[in-house]
Amino acid sequence: MKSAKGKINTIISRLKKKYPEELRTRLHYKNPWELLVATMLSAQSQDAQVNKVTPALFGKYPNIKDYLDRRPQDLYPYVRTLGLYRNKSKNIIKAAHYIHDNFDSRLPKHMEQLVQIPGVGRKTANVVQGNAFGVTEGIAIDTHCITVANRLFLFNTKNAEKIEKDMMKFVPKKEWVNATHLLIALGRDVCTARRKYCEDCVLNDICPSSTVKKS
Ligand code: SF4
Repeated sequence: MKSAKGKINTIISRLKKKYPEELRTRLHYKNPWELLVATMLSAQSQDAQVNKVTPALFGKYPNIKDYLDRRPQDLYPYVRTLGLYRNKSKNIIKAAHYIHDNFDSRLPKHMEQLVQIPGVGRKTANVVQGNAFGVTEGIAIDTHCITVANRLFLFNTKNAEKIEKDMMKFVPKKEWVNATHLLIALGRDVCTARRKYCEDCVLNDICPSSTVKKS
């Protein structure tokens, strides 16, 4: 991991230059609750698909309290184009109740409290913290990050929490939120799960998994 620590500033700086427009979540939201809901809906769905359904959902149910008297089925018409929408709807309603009962209907900022909310794991908590509150206690690791981090840092694991803990050792804390966005951008662009396009990658001279021959 020592070599990764040495390389990380170069990696972050190159990716920031390549993907400057990706330094924030693509999900649309107006407050922390909306970001939490959008992030929960984004599991195994594309951000663009989520952004298509959330304006109507948030228009109908703008506040946490609006979800308290609702059943999961009430959300189905708004989210049924997304995968796992039944489960996601159930978790959103449960989350609203939990936040109402335990945090006076205000979304908490801290990881320890966020991960108690039904349907909220470390990844979702990190996204909400970093983007809505400007708080960083970890690095959000999604499936793109798992793919890219394994190729770039040779982790050899699919365990998101293990990758997060390891990356927190060598990525400077001020870059934790950016690291997520940049790895996702790379994963969407050239380092996809199905195929890596190393010839078009700005890291192809320093990545140990690059297929580009070094001269
Ligand atoms: S060089 Fe290839 S394997 Fe390495 S990060 Fe870029 S696309 Fe992925």
